[in-house]
Amino acid sequence: MNKYTHDIIIIGAGSGGLNVAAFCARIKLKVLLVDKSATHIGGDCLNTGCVPSKALIHVANQVHASRLSNKFKSSSDSSPVDIQKVTEYIKSKQDHIRQNENPEYLKEKGIEYISGSAMFVDAHTIEVDGKRYSAKKFVLATGSRARALSVPNDKSIKEYTNENIFEIDFLPNEFVFIGGGPINCELGQAFARLGSKVTILTTSERILEKETKEVSAVMESVFKDEGIEIVTGITIQEIKNGSVCYSTIGGETSSKKADAIFVGIGRVLNIENLQLEKAGIQVNQTKSKLIVDEYLRTTNKNIYVVGDVAGNYQFTHVAEMHAKVVIANMLSPLKQKFDSKYIAWVTYTSPEIATWGVGHEAATARGFETISADFVHDDRAIVDESVTGRVDIYVDAKGTVYGGTMVAQNAGELSQELILAMSAGLGLKDIFNKVYPYPVASRINKQISSAWMGRKLTTNTAQVLRFLFKSNS
Ligand SMILES: Cc1cc2nc3c(=O)[nH]c(=O)nc-3n(C[C@H](O)[C@H](O)[C@H](O)COP(=O)(O)OP(=O)(O)OC[C@H]3O[C@@H](n4cnc5c(N)ncnc54)[C@H](O)[C@@H]3O)c2cc1C
Repeated sequence: MNKYTHDIIIIGAGSGGLNVAAFCARIKLKVLLVDKSATHIGGDCLNTGCVPSKALIHVANQVHASRLSNKFKSSSDSSPVDIQKVTEYIKSKQDHIRQNENPEYLKEKGIEYISGSAMFVDAHTIEVDGKRYSAKKFVLATGSRARALSVPNDKSIKEYTNENIFEIDFLPNEFVFIGGGPINCELGQAFARLGSKVTILTTSERILEKETKEVSAVMESVFKDEGIEIVTGITIQEIKNGSVCYSTIGGETSSKKADAIFVGIGRVLNIENLQLEKAGIQVNQTKSKLIVDEYLRTTNKNIYVVGDVAGNYQFTHVAEMHAKVVIANMLSPLKQKFDSKYIAWVTYTSPEIATWGVGHEAATARGFETISADFVHDDRAIVDESVTGRVDIYVDAKGTVYGGTMVAQNAGELSQELILAMSAGLGLKDIFNKVYPYPVASRINKQISSAWMGRKLTTNTAQVLRFLFKSNS
């Protein structure tokens, strides 16, 4: 008789949990997937993260493009955006994707799903709504949530996080985004394009601190051109009488009137209320992180972690990468490490920012060269009015690509072949030799490889080539 009710129990049905569950069910393991409620299936990505934010950005970009197109018309349309139609659009796209992320669908795929908050009873048992379930292995995939702003707050301004922004029922006139990270930059620009007057207040010295200074500078300039105000180096003091009050580095105080604020000041891991200690799972001293090894195991070697709760790169595709590692480690005695060498991410502002592989500092420390290009002389960028941007690629002496960053229209797509070059160990020579039909936007990659190859044409080689030409009959 089986010792446990299930082979594997996965807590959290977001991107990470769903991926592990789907594979384990395919190989006919007895899988139990637990999430707080059926409406949480798909986790942050479907419900409060990637999907609704990209749908919102899509609408905002259409509104923006339509506004820009007025210059080709004899009369312009300046009617305001109907926010209800925007949120209905977002919901319709979520509902579409939800067709493959709901209890019935999971059941069809052989995954047993239950709703409720899980907590550990011992190293092999959890309790959900008073019922106990046991398994040989567990996967913690409980994700993260928005960090709260802990300052005095008289609640005189409507407050949003990623949890409720996609159901907003009015278009704020003055919208203050607290925090200057990727979520706030994406959503702040989207609301500015929909018609709000957006201000970004951030404690950092620049927006998008995880990107290079050059990338931040490009985005600051674009945001300013679009009427977004950016105030850096501030500390929020309180929310009072319809204003966000803050102090500057110099100690001066100032305030900004707002009818809505969006708080995006980092993420907190969902690790409370799980009674982790009963399963022998240890956390760090501040109780803010799980202790996780490079094989994605907790201090209880039968309990793995995937996704945001692992506490490093918080992206859907990283949750998927974690799932692959955890599946391999549960099945094989040859343990696989999570390798962040080929990590990549995209910030879906306009222009987009794509970043991959080693960062600028690490590249410099390893003696890699930075090859840069801009879009000013790129024919496609010129006709598409998208010359704003730049690309920096970190290469070794042979031109092998180790990382880079691109800020450009559709950088997420344009960078894909550079990311492939990196993970396949290819170099700029391979890119140079590839055919780029004129005028595909990715010819920027050809431009950068041509510049690198062109440097081989020194005065001496030019002299040799001239000699060959003249001596050739
Ligand atoms: C606004 C926004 C935009 C984003 N855009 C992108 C993007 O464009 N690209 C990208 O790659 N990433 C993006 N992300 C990040 C991405 O959403 C997350 O990295 C991803 O969803 C993490 O997946 P996960 O499985 O780790 O956790 P989650 O998706 O958060 O899932 C965790 C699940 O666990 C459940 N849970 C928690 N505690 C318990 C418990 N005790 N018992 C039972 N269930 C529990 C929760 O209900 C939840 O459903 C974005 C995030 C935000 C907020």
